[in-house]
Amino acid sequence: MPCVVVGAGIVGTAIAYELQRRGETVSLVDRNAPGIGASYGNMASIAVTEFMPASRPGVWAQMPKWLLDPEGPVRVRPAYLPKLVPWFLRFLAASRPSKLRELEAAGAVLCGRVYEDLDALLKQTGLKDMLSAEGCLSLYTDEAEFRKDRDHIETLDRFGFRYEVLGGNAMRDLEPALTTNIAKAVLFPDNRSIADPYKLVVALAERFQALGGSIVQGEVTAFEHGGEGVSGLRLQDGRRIEAKCVVLAAGAFTARLSALLKEPIPLETERGYHTQIMAPGISMRHSIIWPARAFMVTPTAGGLRVGGTVEMAGLKAAPDFRRARILVKRAQEALPGLKAEQTSEWMGHRPALPDTIPVMSRSAKRRNVFYATGHGHLGLTYAATTGRLMADLVMGAAPPVDMKPYRVDRF
Ligand SMILES: Cc1cc2nc3c(=O)[nH]c(=O)nc-3n(C[C@H](O)[C@H](O)[C@H](O)COP(=O)(O)OP(=O)(O)OC[C@H]3O[C@@H](n4cnc5c(N)ncnc54)[C@H](O)[C@@H]3O)c2cc1C
Repeated sequence: MPCVVVGAGIVGTAIAYELQRRGETVSLVDRNAPGIGASYGNMASIAVTEFMPASRPGVWAQMPKWLLDPEGPVRVRPAYLPKLVPWFLRFLAASRPSKLRELEAAGAVLCGRVYEDLDALLKQTGLKDMLSAEGCLSLYTDEAEFRKDRDHIETLDRFGFRYEVLGGNAMRDLEPALTTNIAKAVLFPDNRSIADPYKLVVALAERFQALGGSIVQGEVTAFEHGGEGVSGLRLQDGRRIEAKCVVLAAGAFTARLSALLKEPIPLETERGYHTQIMAPGISMRHSIIWPARAFMVTPTAGGLRVGGTVEMAGLKAAPDFRRARILVKRAQEALPGLKAEQTSEWMGHRPALPDTIPVMSRSAKRRNVFYATGHGHLGLTYAATTGRLMADLVMGAAPPVDMKPYRVDRF
């Protein structure tokens, strides 16, 4: 009987690969082909310096301004507001100073081991070329803007993550396309990027199959119960899959599945957008972020990708691609030569928990069910580490980190 992983995004595929590599028989189930969810169009960044909880004071300080600005980086669709209240109350609870310290530590533990796990995965699979050598530049118009990001830098100091503060000229030596209106930058040399996040999922899924893993296309709609666990899954078309164990890694949709098991997870979707620019008219080696303008630009295999933004509007509402266009306008302020020609636009559902920390856990209710979800803005970053840790949990090995902060029943 196979171990069944539900969700072939970067998270589920990394778990399925690692379980299969360690000798389990694994079926990876997705209603689509691998990599079509949030993992398709993310900003490709291995963002090891971005583990801070979203509920930190620096974010609260900017929130009123952001929410009042229709072009701001955070937008809540008014019709969705009532549904958001329970999640928002938990977000509020995650802002207590003592809680923030705990959450930072839980994120830093994961980010601290990202390259150990990612390098191992890329080496085993022959995919090392997908990882860039260059880091990310964080931009600041002036000293005042830089000071507003101080808590971020202080947190990195506390956990020993590397960065280098640069003046405007040194920054432009690294990226000549940047405007002269930016006085300061911080280089995060370890925030490297993946050439094409979608192709990474596809390649990993192929390696998984080459090891004997099977991919099943179908939507999971129900579970069959046996003993104190789950004995099988039902697909929408009536097919049935027997399961020795089940790992639910369906991204922002995982809460629908956990609800069927009467194990609620307070999962929301932070919808994000990108514009892929195939003919940008400039070239870049580093990715850039501009915290005050809340966008990111990443050089990818298919041109420059401009993205970011958080839109709270649930899983069903149609995309509002004006949000993607706002980001391009902002990026053009940083990169005056940037042309928006030959573009495509995309929206994806980040699986977001109110305390920012992912769930990587055995079910508290069903013996053979496991969860890997809620990776928020860092699903690509955390994927290899999640694969490693979840395989330990499923196979009964001792994980190399304390897994308590990532438990599903912590809320
Ligand atoms: C604009 C944007 C930029 C981002 N930038 C970055 C970044 O630079 N770095 C980073 O680390 N992260 C980034 N992220 C976050 C990252 O993309 C996500 O955290 C990650 O992709 C989540 O992966 P996942 O496998 O959990 O979910 P997904 O990729 O969404 O995969 C879930 C899968 O589950 C399947 N599924 C759902 N329900 C069912 C069901 N009932 N039956 C069968 N299959 C089902 C779906 O079809 C889907 O394929 C970004 C996200 C966005 C939106």
